[in-house]
Amino acid sequence: MKHICFIFVLFSVACGGNKELTHSPPTVTTTSTTTITETITNHPKNIIFMVGDGMGLSQITAAMYMNDNKIAFERCKHVGLHKSHARGNLVTDSAAGATAFSCGEKTYNGAIGVNMEKQPMKTILESAEDAGLETGMVATCGITHATPGSFVAHQEQRKMYEEIAADIANAEVEVLIGGGRDHFTKRVDEQDLLQKMKDKGYEVTNELQQVTANNDKIAVILADEHPPKKSEGRDYLKDASNLAIARLSKSEKGFFLLVEGSQIDWGGHANEHDYIISELLDFNETVHAVLDFAETNQETLVVITADHETGGFAINPGSKMNKKIVPGFTTGQHTASMIPVFAFGPGAEAFMGIYENTAIYHKMMAALQLEK
Ligand code: MG
Ligand code: ZN
Repeated sequence: MKHICFIFVLFSVACGGNKELTHSPPTVTTTSTTTITETITNHPKNIIFMVGDGMGLSQITAAMYMNDNKIAFERCKHVGLHKSHARGNLVTDSAAGATAFSCGEKTYNGAIGVNMEKQPMKTILESAEDAGLETGMVATCGITHATPGSFVAHQEQRKMYEEIAADIANAEVEVLIGGGRDHFTKRVDEQDLLQKMKDKGYEVTNELQQVTANNDKIAVILADEHPPKKSEGRDYLKDASNLAIARLSKSEKGFFLLVEGSQIDWGGHANEHDYIISELLDFNETVHAVLDFAETNQETLVVITADHETGGFAINPGSKMNKKIVPGFTTGQHTASMIPVFAFGPGAEAFMGIYENTAIYHKMMAALQLEK
């Protein structure tokens, strides 16, 4: 049945009739053509899902033109677009956007892994854990922030950081790397959740160098709140992603890893194009490293996208290759434009076309043959 579901996903995408993907996974019992069946036999063992928060097409383009006209995404031959809108709001926030990816359902802005009725929805990361895969999350913000939070936590509002931290501490995610220490240790309920995690077998540290791929469970918490900007000394995303991959590669059944370039969004909010570009180039280097792994490994599907665009960013006349971007911004908030999706590895074909952000969940679930 799982194979058939995936056939349907591919078939739907090929026909452009993919509206069904916005709802529950298709349960159609038709068969498809040989070509499509061949693609199905090509399931990945692992997925690395990479989110550049606030990374619209202009953000990517600006970084590319300031990087000698090169960007790692060009290595992905399968490209699509997703419709980023939230339920009840054309302009999504990162919580509703990430919940669409993690749970396959559009919800209200601010929702962390819950539906319109504020009920918890099982995430792809939880389904992966239940199926015996190992999991990880690496981010350049607090690990309790909306994007990573939506993959393991279930809370009514994104600002419920201490509740989100408790959900993370209760989960069994093998690799956690990011900021957000205060939400684990300086809490209203006075619990020390990092101590609790140590008791559960986590290697908890504030230095990436203190852990290796041989540690069973890893929590590297690099800041009390958010790690600094790339331009102000943060320099771990690539190494942390490589470490997560090295650890999770030991999993017999495969893995699901989330990697977030969190602060591209913050450059957009600040209307600072230099901030956007330096964060995006940091993410770009990490994408290269991840694709290098996937190229050698051959069992890993890499999907790279954003939750939304931020700033209504444009590259205006007067901009010069490698010299300067003349920016324009329409807002300090997010915008509703469609968002590119880049895919690499087994199953990548399913990500071509135009579809809802929720379809990304269904495609990844089908690729890993996971049950909700
Ligand atoms: Mg984010
Ligand atoms: Zn934002």
